[in-house]
Amino acid sequence: MVRRRKFCKSCVGRYYFDYKDARFLSQFISDNGRIVPRRISGACAQCQRKITLAVKRARHLALLPYVRR
Ligand SMILES: [Zn+2]
Repeated sequence: MVRRRKFCKSCVGRYYFDYKDARFLSQFISDNGRIVPRRISGACAQCQRKITLAVKRARHLALLPYVRR
């Protein structure tokens, strides 16, 4: 296992990103509803991909906003 320089909070404790868990996913979206870039969130590539997919599903189900004003 390779240790990442930045702490990936997604890898710790959580293996699966539930698109129904809007409260959890909201950690990874910014104030205006956009997905936080990996440089800022510190998520690893695998997690970021899962987060993106989960956020997109959640948006489709109207659990998360596309744009927040
Ligand atoms: Zn990760």
